[in-house]
Amino acid sequence: MDTTELLKFDREHIWHPYTSTTDPLPVYAVKRAEGVYLELADGRRLIDGMSSWWCEVHGYNHPVLNAAIEKQLHEMSHVMFGGITHQPAVELAQKILAIAPRNMDKIFFSDSGSVAVEVAMKMALQYWYAAGREKKKHFMTLTKGYHGDTWNAMSVCDPVTGMHGIFHGCLPVQYFVEHPKCRFGSSCSAEDIRPFQECLEQHHETIAAVILEPIVQGAGGMWFYSADYLRQVKEWCDKFDVLLICDEIATGFGRTGKLWAVEHAEIEPDIMCIGKAITGGYMSFAATMTSARVAEGICSCNPYVFMHGPTFMGNPLACAVASASVDLIVSYDVERKVGAIEKQLREELAEAHNFPQVEDVRVLGAIGVIEMKEPVNMGEIQAMFVKEGIWVRPFGKLVYIMPPFIITPEELHCLTTGLKKVVSQI
Ligand SMILES: *Cc1c(COP(=O)(O)O)cnc(C)c1O
Repeated sequence: MDTTELLKFDREHIWHPYTSTTDPLPVYAVKRAEGVYLELADGRRLIDGMSSWWCEVHGYNHPVLNAAIEKQLHEMSHVMFGGITHQPAVELAQKILAIAPRNMDKIFFSDSGSVAVEVAMKMALQYWYAAGREKKKHFMTLTKGYHGDTWNAMSVCDPVTGMHGIFHGCLPVQYFVEHPKCRFGSSCSAEDIRPFQECLEQHHETIAAVILEPIVQGAGGMWFYSADYLRQVKEWCDKFDVLLICDEIATGFGRTGKLWAVEHAEIEPDIMCIGKAITGGYMSFAATMTSARVAEGICSCNPYVFMHGPTFMGNPLACAVASASVDLIVSYDVERKVGAIEKQLREELAEAHNFPQVEDVRVLGAIGVIEMKEPVNMGEIQAMFVKEGIWVRPFGKLVYIMPPFIITPEELHCLTTGLKKVVSQI
């Protein structure tokens, strides 16, 4: 099929994320991808600044990941997980639990991040149900959060920036606390934590869990907050018998400079969601982990089982490629590798502070954010980035990059140079 035909059919019949189907912005046809490069159908090569939305940490077409998935393909692509287990799932569980926060003891595999969040929320509800505390049915979270697009995940996304405003009348009502203004690297004052503390004091009887993105709020605002705040959140949760769910779907596997973002605060969550980079971006896959205490609570009372079981749970292809991806992460010395990217991003993005269009510049780990004073025109700016040979996908006022960890200093330099050039021109 030639590209014109392909784009025409796409435009007429296929929905893309958060787009109109009657008047969509143009899309770009990609024909292959290798390392940090996306190759367009017309042969142009773009440095991918997005890692395909946090996922592709090892780059595209990685020989080790390709080999892992090919090998598994010849054994079995899929087999049901009810009443059956297999080596790829067991190996992956061993590897992840070995590097997860120490109290994590049980792992539930699912097919996408949003599902991992639903599973986490159901775990919390079932835990309190089993404990005879059935009033604990609600969740508390921070504004500017993002936890996915399914029903309960939506209910804890930011009501304004969370892209789900129109559904609010139909969603379960949760408690929202103003997100922390204290930045990463600074301490958290009594005043900073007060809204959180007060909400918990008032409503803890009906709150099953606090759910939040540790340290980095991603799609809801690209904001990095104080590790001290997160540490205090954990203390208040413990004090009031409320579980803490940490959604590490975007932050996990090294993105923030530590293997897990919770390490910045030296806390252990009660339940933790992982996804996105788990398969190195090869397949849709995710997991929810919990402590022995929570898992045993859930299963201690009628119905004595956890009530969830996706069709593609523990898919062997996904487990095999995730296993190879975790091996690569472990082999990297993530803190050094991501630390080097962080240092270069800080140095090279600093100049953007001086642009009159720019409100704020912030960097953490392999994440660089330029916050504009006004929302950008997506169609226009996307075309400008492509012209510079880079792939960047902003939303609202936020122009940001989170490149693959394997990016070279030269490639990263091209990416930040193109980024600054475009930002200075709009
Ligand atoms: C992307 C994301 C999700 C949802 O994951 P999907 O795989 O898109 O369902 C949930 N939480 C966070 C923090 C995310 O970044």
